[in-house]
Amino acid sequence: MESRKTCDSCGDSSCTAKNQQQNESKEAYADRRRLQARLCRIQHKIVVLSGKGGVGKSTVAVNLATALALNGLRVGLLDVDIHGPSVPTMLGLENESLQGTDGGLIPVERGNMKIMSIGFLLKNSDDAIIWRGPMKMGVIKQFLADVEWGDLDYLIVDAPPGTGDEPLSLCQLIQPLDGAVIVTTPQKVAAVDVRKSISFCRQVNVPVLGVVENMSGFVCPKCGEITQIFPVGAGSKIAVDMKVPFLGAIPMDPALAQSGDSGKVFIYHFSETPTGKIMQEIIDQITDTDKTNKLNS
Ligand code: ADP
Repeated sequence: MESRKTCDSCGDSSCTAKNQQQNESKEAYADRRRLQARLCRIQHKIVVLSGKGGVGKSTVAVNLATALALNGLRVGLLDVDIHGPSVPTMLGLENESLQGTDGGLIPVERGNMKIMSIGFLLKNSDDAIIWRGPMKMGVIKQFLADVEWGDLDYLIVDAPPGTGDEPLSLCQLIQPLDGAVIVTTPQKVAAVDVRKSISFCRQVNVPVLGVVENMSGFVCPKCGEITQIFPVGAGSKIAVDMKVPFLGAIPMDPALAQSGDSGKVFIYHFSETPTGKIMQEIIDQITDTDKTNKLNS
């Protein structure tokens, strides 16, 4: 049975949605209350960020959400990566489309995981999303305020890449946000982006749960040995420099790429492989850091 907490019955006097702000229109206030009423029913909210696309942000988000759901938790996975919504493919949900009722949009359910993706708006996965800024923000807002998430233990958000307006409004809308996981690749050129992502989080008061260095070394599909084909370690160096946790390094693993393409979640199907174990250790650290942060806050 879901606890139907509403703003009217809520006793939290510190909640900013309790009162209409000066210069806030009635409609804007009603929107804000609706958003807050949804978010209040979600215990932990984690956003997965990256300085740019293609570094493995969605891979980390999908595997983190799935691992939590496999642990029996009620999980929501929200994919608002406007430029490349890959969650439907990674979960084998390409044929799903948006369904709605009077109460809001209905997320796709797989076991105890609820999934909503910008990709469900596209009739054809080859379609590009060509929206102007305000429209992108509107969709991000709608996906938070109008999706019937119900009561969740965790909401994992696959954010738009970069440090621009879209991740900014996302982080401002999801309040309070437990923290951000920042995904990067080992190259020095990516290092600049991680620094930007960390200072972005600091500016918007989002705790950094840690940095994941993805595609760090290569797993031989024949013998399983990890070879460092490029210099690695930029992610861990920055984490130390900027005093945020380093969560670990995931190697480039052909099985990980194949699992993403075929809709088979890696952490479920390949949990016993060396990469699967590395991934699980990273996920455990994210949830541990998150819990410690919550206790200390
Ligand atoms: P982003 O969300 O940052 O754009 P994705 O998670 O979509 O990146 O990853 C981009 C592509 O790289 C996907 O095809 C994914 O399966 C693949 N990929 C991600 N991480 C790895 C890895 N460690 N090894 C092999 N392929 C990977």
